[in-house]
This record gives sequence, C-alpha cells and structure tokens, in this order.
Amino acid sequence: MVGKVPVGGGSPISVQSMTTTKTADVEGTLQQIYALAAAGCDIVRCTCNEIEAAEGLAQIVPRSPIPIIADIHHQYKMALAAMEAGVHGLRLNPGNIRKPEHIKAVASEARDRGIPIRIGVNGGSLDPSLYEKYGGLTAAAMVESAMQEIAYFQEVDFNLMKISVKASNVPLMVEAYRMLADATDIPLHLGVTEAGPPPAGLVKATAGISTLLLEGIGDTIRYSLTADPVEEARAGRQLLEALGLRERKNVDLIACPSCGRAEIDVIDVANRAMKAFEDKKLPLQIAVMGCVVNGPGEAREADLGIAAGNKRGHLFVKGRNVAVIPEDEMVEALVEWAEFINEHGTDAAIERADTKLAEREAARDRAQLMDEKGDDANHSAEKIVEIRKTAGN
Ligand code: SF4
Repeated sequence: MVGKVPVGGGSPISVQSMTTTKTADVEGTLQQIYALAAAGCDIVRCTCNEIEAAEGLAQIVPRSPIPIIADIHHQYKMALAAMEAGVHGLRLNPGNIRKPEHIKAVASEARDRGIPIRIGVNGGSLDPSLYEKYGGLTAAAMVESAMQEIAYFQEVDFNLMKISVKASNVPLMVEAYRMLADATDIPLHLGVTEAGPPPAGLVKATAGISTLLLEGIGDTIRYSLTADPVEEARAGRQLLEALGLRERKNVDLIACPSCGRAEIDVIDVANRAMKAFEDKKLPLQIAVMGCVVNGPGEAREADLGIAAGNKRGHLFVKGRNVAVIPEDEMVEALVEWAEFINEHGTDAAIERADTKLAEREAARDRAQLMDEKGDDANHSAEKIVEIRKTAGN
C-alpha cells in the first residue's frame, strides 16, 4: 500500500507522476498535485532534496488528495526527514546512496513505520563497479544493481518494496524489466526514463510501458516526459484505459484519418472535440467522422458520433442517425448529447430522437455525396488521364 493505493498483487495498475515545483513551495506544489490528481494520477512524487523540502512535505502530506512519495538522491538523512514528515513512500536510487549502513538505516526506519520504498535503478546513474563488470550499461547490470539493493533491505527484514530499472533506451529497458520479472515477485514500477518532450517522448514511453504491460509485467507506471506533468498523468491514464487495464473514466475519442471524401476539416473538429471533452470525465467512446457515406457504419460501436454531410453534421448513436446539426455547432452538439447519454444511456438518447427524420436526411446527403464523388472519392480516374497527358508531353 502506498497510502490508500494498493500496488502489486493483482491490484489495478496505478499512474504516477512527479511535481516540478520546489517542494518547499507548499501552495504551488499542492496546486500541481490537485491538477495531477484531476488528470488521473494515483500517486505523486515530490523531491526531498533539502531540509526546506522535508518541512514542506510535512505540510503537503495532510492536504494532498493522493499519496506522496519522497524522491531521495544522495542524502540518506533526507529519507529519514521525509519519513518524519509523514510521506506515504520513498524512492531511493541505489546509484546515489551507496553505503550499506546508510541504506540499512533507512530500511530499518521504514520497516518500523511501515513505509514502502521503491528501489529506483536508473541506467544513467548505475554504480560504476557494475558498469565496469558488465563492460557498459546492460540489462543484466541494472538487474544486478536492483538485486544487490533488495538484499540489503531484506537483511533488515524489510519487504515493502517496489523496483524499477528504467533506461532511456526502450529495448534495453524492456529487456531489463523482463529479466527482473523472472528474478523476483516484488512489484515493478515501469518507466522509460528521460523519454523527452512529446510527441517522441510519448511514443518511446508508450512503446516500452505497453510492451511490458501486455506481457503481464508491471504494477505501476510513470511517463517521464519533458512537459507539464499533467501530460504525464493524462498519458498514463489514457494508456491504461486503452489497454483495458483500468476502467474508462474519460472520453475515448476516435476519429477517421480523413480522406478525399471528407466534408469537413476532420483534424480541426477532432481537436476541438478533444479539447471540449478534456476535463469532462465522461466514460464514452465518441467518433468524429469525415463523411456520412462511411462514417456512421465504420464507427457503429461508438456510443456517439458525428459524420459530415453536405455542409451539416449527422449525429449518430450506436450507428443510428439521431439528429442533423449545422456544421458550426457540431462540437457543442456532441457535448450536449454526450452529457445526456452519460446520464440516461444510449437507448434513451435514441428514444428521444426523431430517428426517421435523421435517417432520411442522412440518406439524402449520402446519396448526393455518392452522386458527386461516386466510389472514387479521389477522382483517380481523372487524375490518371491528366498524369498520362503530362507524362506524354
Ligand atoms: S471515407 Fe469518410 S469516414 Fe472514411 S476516412 Fe474518408 S472521410 Fe473519413
């Protein structure tokens, strides 16, 4: 347990993030923690790098909506101070606290207080002797560092551990976690360290974390992005919802990639819809489709969707046309219907609609678009004639 959040032993995978404020800035840090919690963060880590930070933690912990973990580097005394401040967990980096007596002092105190500790091995700060032994940074070197540390903790009968073996190189991180999962049953905290700014950072972190989660490896996750930590929390939550590992709490927005048939700027409407639903906490799948010819059919599993017709939008619920909306009111209409569905369900939404009228209008637009564009939305036949003319000249 990290505070009230269970980790490991088949409990739901939790999302973690880390504040970027000075921990001594109590109000600023709490503000960020509240924003993180609203974005789906279950556990938050704050640095405890100086006495003022430990003092800040004493004030932050009782006011935080989610459990707090103190991040400790180098000074083992900061770990003792953070425990005194009442934190729910610690994170230690074995590459930075090397003296066995210091590690054991922290472990004994944590054992007596029942505070869990994450052993956070980091590819970038591996013990130089292991680096030398393995001829560089390897998965085996990181796993040995973790196992050494576990042994110190177990010597003083401390078992409330989580482990991470993060690296910025995705295949290396995946290999290290696989080895670790074979070597121990201790809960694992997954992450690709220093993944960088989005979108590349998101891709790297997702590649590493989801590969492992789909193999059944991992108990808690963190996206380490060079971005507002709220983005980390949101990404973590979205990943778990996408993999079906956490109950859906937010809108799953699906949208067609758009093509020559699109009657609207799909990217713009999808982005505006994403923004409108961002903080709404509606556990629905909502589709934005570029044309009424294929949209409602392709997205028939969605709870709600919009497809563009002739300068207007066709709203559909579970593939059934329910309303015709002016083009510039599509996003507002989606929000209104989504809120109705969230409260009353999709059946009630279909019932309240004039589906006959909506279906007739959709059929009319569909027929007109088919007439105009036919099956060949990209006008390829005409283009080929043009290409031949150009190439022949
Ligand atoms: S056919 Fe219609 S729904 Fe499918 S990608 Fe093209 S615009 Fe989108």
